[in-house]
Amino acid sequence: MTDSFSLPFGTWPQLEPGWVWLCGAGPGDPGLLTLHAVNALQQADVVIYDALVQEEILTWAPQAEHIYAGKRGGKPSAKQRDISLHLVELAQSGKRVLRLKGGDPFVFGRGGEEAQTLIQHGVPVRIIPGISAGIGGLAYAGIPVTHRDVNQSVTFVTGHDQTGETPSNLNWRAIAQGSQVLVIYMGMKHVDRIAAELLAAGRAADEPCAVVCSATTPQQQVLETTLGRMAADIAESGLEPPAILCVGRSVLMRQVLDWQGQMRGESPRNLDPLGRGRPTEAS
Ligand code: SAH
Repeated sequence: MTDSFSLPFGTWPQLEPGWVWLCGAGPGDPGLLTLHAVNALQQADVVIYDALVQEEILTWAPQAEHIYAGKRGGKPSAKQRDISLHLVELAQSGKRVLRLKGGDPFVFGRGGEEAQTLIQHGVPVRIIPGISAGIGGLAYAGIPVTHRDVNQSVTFVTGHDQTGETPSNLNWRAIAQGSQVLVIYMGMKHVDRIAAELLAAGRAADEPCAVVCSATTPQQQVLETTLGRMAADIAESGLEPPAILCVGRSVLMRQVLDWQGQMRGESPRNLDPLGRGRPTEAS
């Protein structure tokens, strides 16, 4: 890890005492931090970070106090309120506070709730977006979240709601029928229910699916399967969260776009995985 990292020439925002910067840390690989995140890490007095933030990233803030605020998925939101109020307290005591969250803070990360509480308490906030696991994590698995020959729509879904159950207010039928590619966060616990809902709504049992675990970290693992087999294959593989589930033909693109496999010396499995019989660029 670098001892210091000079930001490119320019004027970078100052993290002032009493402020909270709510910042995405990306899906894992520290190289996927934004420059605003690095700037924040260099100035913070205190970094409050989540379970999904790679600890290596904290070494970029050696001057700061590091506070772990991890929550396990599905627990009620009481603890969330404690975290938000802790942020308020730290800011009101005059600290420069960096709230670091996995991926993007506003994507299934309760960043909106935290920012709301801060603002309601008169604490000034800056939001720093990050690369969300459902986009960047899939890219590291060689799965483009959109591809012109596959999909003109993509839906991001969470696999469980505040109660820890599959979101009951979701219209799974509409989602299944209305979006060519589904990217499911927090889907491991209820994968059997989710797959059953999608199949009942008419998605094909042989539809390609991928499970991307610990994406962008050295522990990344990818399982290619089908909608019909996904739940059983996950159980059999012993794969653990965090994972992104991707349902749709984009998964086929991994046969040609698995760039990490290619870096390890593997050949592309199929240069034309959609069977178009022509290079994409020709049309
Ligand atoms: N704000 C985050 C999502 C938080 S919800 C973001 O934008 O990425 C937590 C869920 O995100 C996990 O259950 C998992 O579904 C997904 N996730 C986060 N990091 C991941 C990673 N490195 N690999 C796979 N899934 C990840």
